[in-house]
Amino acid sequence: MSLRKIITYPHPVLRKKAEPVTVFDKELEQLVVDMAETMYDAPGSGLAANQIGELRQVIIVDVREADEAKNLHVFINPLIVAEEGSVTDVEGCLSVLEYSSNVKRAQKVRVSALDVKGKQFEFEAEEWFARALQHEIDHLHGKLFIDHISSLKRTLYKKKLKKLLQEQEEAA
Ligand SMILES: [Zn+2]
Repeated sequence: MSLRKIITYPHPVLRKKAEPVTVFDKELEQLVVDMAETMYDAPGSGLAANQIGELRQVIIVDVREADEAKNLHVFINPLIVAEEGSVTDVEGCLSVLEYSSNVKRAQKVRVSALDVKGKQFEFEAEEWFARALQHEIDHLHGKLFIDHISSLKRTLYKKKLKKLLQEQEEAA
């Protein structure tokens, strides 16, 4: 197992589209293990392969409460096949430093995906789980949650981030 570095905005790899997975082998299993280790270490409740620089359609989600046992879900080549309702709630991202904002998402989604062995399955999720799935699937298409907020808010965030990165550089 190895911990991978989480790439942060505005790195260009986060804007690239991930390719569908076609080979289901030990290497893919290792990628999922590394992603899980990286996500739990962060800690976060979801991670897309793009975020560690792997342009493959792999996402993982675990929306358990802090005091609950790990409950890892792996989705390969995930596709949202149905969605219902809408709900606005606060969202953040391991790749978007020091920021969170309200984002409107479908309340319920049905996802079609493959498991790590290449077996197809369908999965229904609501509320936080549905939000996490939509957020992570966005990553696979080079999209970030800040693309869902107003351009004014985004401009303010970019300014804040620039200042933050400058301060980090000066401190280094
Ligand atoms: Zn994210």
